[in-house]
Amino acid sequence: MTDYKRFYRNEEDYPQLDGEGAFRHLSAAIACRTVNGTEGCDEEFAKLRQLIRDSYPAVSAAAVTETVGRSLLIHIEGRDKNLKPVLFMSHMDVVGVEAGTEKDWTYPPFSGEIAQGYIWGRGALDIKCQVFGVLEAAEYLLSRGCRPERDVYLAFGEDEETFNTGALAMAKLLESRGVQLEFLLDEGGGSIESGAVYCAPGVNVCQIHLAEKGYADLRLVAKGKGGHSSNPFGGSSLEHMARAISAVCDSGQEAEMPKALEQCLEAIAPYVTEEPLKSLVQDIPGNAQAIMDYCASVRELFPLTATTIAPTMISGGSPACNVLPQDISANINFRLIPGDSAEELKRRCFAALEGMPVKAKFDQANDPSRLSAASGYGYEKLLEAMNYYYNDVVFIPSISAGATDARQYENICSACLRCAPFLSEAAETAGLVHGTNERISQRSYIQGIRVLIRIMETACGFANAEI
Ligand SMILES: [Zn+2]
Repeated sequence: MTDYKRFYRNEEDYPQLDGEGAFRHLSAAIACRTVNGTEGCDEEFAKLRQLIRDSYPAVSAAAVTETVGRSLLIHIEGRDKNLKPVLFMSHMDVVGVEAGTEKDWTYPPFSGEIAQGYIWGRGALDIKCQVFGVLEAAEYLLSRGCRPERDVYLAFGEDEETFNTGALAMAKLLESRGVQLEFLLDEGGGSIESGAVYCAPGVNVCQIHLAEKGYADLRLVAKGKGGHSSNPFGGSSLEHMARAISAVCDSGQEAEMPKALEQCLEAIAPYVTEEPLKSLVQDIPGNAQAIMDYCASVRELFPLTATTIAPTMISGGSPACNVLPQDISANINFRLIPGDSAEELKRRCFAALEGMPVKAKFDQANDPSRLSAASGYGYEKLLEAMNYYYNDVVFIPSISAGATDARQYENICSACLRCAPFLSEAAETAGLVHGTNERISQRSYIQGIRVLIRIMETACGFANAEI
């Protein structure tokens, strides 16, 4: 259970904020089964868009709302056209519920039940809370006659969990209109964790993701004719495959410290009290190799040190101990660190496999996103608002191991910030995202809305408030 007294502050702000209404709206949103690939999902998306129009009359009245495919792009015009717009984004789609696990839920997964201090259901955490939290914040300000100084966009994608085409379409549309953003805020981070892995056990940390790792799959095939195992002349296909996998696993890039790790360590450095990092972070560039060695030895930090290489699938093999195998195939999955590229990864893999009797082909290979700076206008406003509402939490820049929608906006935005403002302790939400009994605490939902209102006020210049 999150220790709200310890981590939350200024909960008495915005006393007129309609918490009950906000819970009802999120509950109704969860009841829309926006699971791509399921029957009737187009209607469910339409239902969700209609719910947004009906639930937020001030937004609907003050903004221009466009349906882009099944995604939703909302534009609130600002007073000063010289200022770059800010975009608040999230996604309306959710993952399905694994067949056979429905009965394990305390309340049905699409019920949106409000009980025991939580709003329950698929999408409560990932991430209808951010779609509706952003809308609650905008509605709160607009319904009080406030208008932003700069343009504000709200962009809610339709397929973050699958193809990211909705976000791409909206980004292209904005690009075609010449829009360049000051910054954007998307999902990411969102949990309070111990600083122990950073040798800072005295503090709690929350990650702000400034990049997404890239993704690639390499397919390997080793041909074999079979035959008696008493004469494996030239090596068996399984042997060739094993050597090939091993060669690829050893083909990691040069061990230069990724910028993402450096940014992270710079932020946590003042709080580090234990060795080995205590001495090492005194001079991060000078101790780069020792820091990399330490980080690579810690499970949680390992993905920050490099492009990861994970053999994930193998099939083939012989049906009997004394028979040579025929064709063997395998898959190796990569998550590319910002700074690396799909092109470079391919070059390394093909070089490692040169002369080996295996066929190699990349099924897909996506570059990592660009790394946003852990500074600048948007980052500072986000940090200010998070620190204002959360106590005893150190916010540190990091990167997301998975992909999300934010990278689709890179052409029009150099400050892509990924941080859901609805904080709770990691132990409370462990296993809930995409899992059974997904739920968000009502207290953290409302607190996140306060953060969003504050960001809109401070970063977008909403004024003429009677709040
Ligand atoms: Zn998500």
